[in-house]
Amino acid sequence: MDTNNHFDAIVLGAGPAGLTAGIYLSRARLKTLILDERTPGGQMVLTHEIANYPGVESISGYQLAGIMKKQAKNFGCDIKSNVSVQSVELEGEIKSISLSDGNSFTSNSIILTPGGRSRTLGVPGEDTFKGKGISYCATCDGDFFTGKEIIVAGGGNSALEEAVSLTKYASKVTIVHQFDHFQAFEYAIDEAVNNPKINFIMESAITAFHGNENLESAEIKNLRSGETQTFRTDGTFIFIGYIPNTGFLRGKVELNKWGEIVVGSDMSTSIEGVYAAGDSTAKRFRQVTTAVGDGTVAALAVSNYLNELKVKQKQLITG
Ligand SMILES: Cc1cc2nc3c(=O)[nH]c(=O)nc-3n(C[C@H](O)[C@H](O)[C@H](O)COP(=O)(O)OP(=O)(O)OC[C@H]3O[C@@H](n4cnc5c(N)ncnc54)[C@H](O)[C@@H]3O)c2cc1C
Repeated sequence: MDTNNHFDAIVLGAGPAGLTAGIYLSRARLKTLILDERTPGGQMVLTHEIANYPGVESISGYQLAGIMKKQAKNFGCDIKSNVSVQSVELEGEIKSISLSDGNSFTSNSIILTPGGRSRTLGVPGEDTFKGKGISYCATCDGDFFTGKEIIVAGGGNSALEEAVSLTKYASKVTIVHQFDHFQAFEYAIDEAVNNPKINFIMESAITAFHGNENLESAEIKNLRSGETQTFRTDGTFIFIGYIPNTGFLRGKVELNKWGEIVVGSDMSTSIEGVYAAGDSTAKRFRQVTTAVGDGTVAALAVSNYLNELKVKQKQLITG
């Protein structure tokens, strides 16, 4: 075993769940490595403003991610970003992770925090106009739509909050939602409903996108009457939920039918020494605070697991 590449704990994913786990583990003087296939921060970096993180009135997701990363590093946590995980071996006392670049790491425990990603509508034209009028990130692309008329597809918290944020740029925002009510917190609904730049097309679904170089219109079908209208638009932002990033874990750890990692109250998974935290786990509410809470519990449970493992190994040596 290469001791340089051996860790007490490896955390897979540097979103708020993974970074929090990294802070707690490193502070407990456990040799910790966080691996992320992108830049640290996870979905936080897609969020223009986080106003519900206790103790911080308002902060950009990018800034909050930067602070969490710095905190983890200050405690000695090793963070490797933009890596491509090729394989994970979770069974047994020594776990291993191999990267596409040939590097591999071993550890006594693993915390899985791969989070999730935006769900797509899956309608004709969506792929064609991705980045040419269709976006999944208001923070990244909102500015491109200054003075333009846009659609927001969705009816949850993200859709309503991001629709409000997009009114900073767009002249008109039309929310298209499939139900006659929203699945969001009251404050988010109130803010959207009371915003004069926001209009609503309810009980309707986008069925196709059209344009030439760029997106020019969307087909919107009224789900009650079945009528379809061609709606002129300069852009469409899609916020209709997420898919857990757990494809690489299929067959390695228990997932539910939605691909979410099944965890116990201490964030333990079906495999001994493997824990999970954050949006990739099976749970109802997905927020930075819940990810941070999960990451804390997982890290403390790992500390406990490693202590017990040490005692067990000592007993084996002394007979
Ligand atoms: C537009 C938007 C706005 C939001 N606004 C808010 C808000 O205002 N307040 C709030 O509390 N929450 C908000 N959220 C939700 C919040 O961002 C998430 O709940 C939170 O980031 C989840 O944290 P996580 O660590 O579980 O996962 P993520 O943030 O998804 O991070 C997972 C990380 O794992 C990495 N990863 C994935 N697969 C692998 C792999 N195989 N190997 C290595 N790394 C991998 C990813 O690159 C990513 O960095 C918002 C989300 C979105 C999309």
